[in-house]
Amino acid sequence: MALMEVVKWPNPILDAPGDPVTEFGDGLKKLVSNMFETMYSAPGVGLAAAQVGVSKRLFVMDCSGGKDPDQRIVMINPEVIHVEGEQNGEEGCLSFPGIFTPVERSLRAVVRAHDINGNEFELDDTELTARCMLHETDHCDGIVFLDKMSPIKRELVKRKIRKLQKAGKWS
Ligand SMILES: [Zn+2]
Repeated sequence: MALMEVVKWPNPILDAPGDPVTEFGDGLKKLVSNMFETMYSAPGVGLAAAQVGVSKRLFVMDCSGGKDPDQRIVMINPEVIHVEGEQNGEEGCLSFPGIFTPVERSLRAVVRAHDINGNEFELDDTELTARCMLHETDHCDGIVFLDKMSPIKRELVKRKIRKLQKAGKWS
């Protein structure tokens, strides 16, 4: 296993929709295992391939932070098939280190995806898991959480990032 470098916004790969995954072989298994290691080491609860410079539709997540093996999940070619309700809570992103801001999301989400062997499955969950699935599926579509913020909040966050860039603390 190896740690991968997490790309920061505004790297253009974060704005590009990923290509569908069509090969479920050793290369994919290796990528997924490296992505898990990178996510746990960050630490974070979700990481999409685009964030490690790979423009493909997949992500890993673990809302238990490594405590519960059942929550270690990889979703390949994810597709949101149902959402309902609303939640508003703090959200962060490994491509925006140190930025935490409230983002509105659906309370419940049903996401269909392939597992590491190419078998289709659905995950139906709420609260943090739903938020995480929606955030990471957005990455697969070239959408970052900045795009989900109100225009005022987005400007504030961009201003904060520009300051960090000037101070050499964002590269
Ligand atoms: Zn993110």
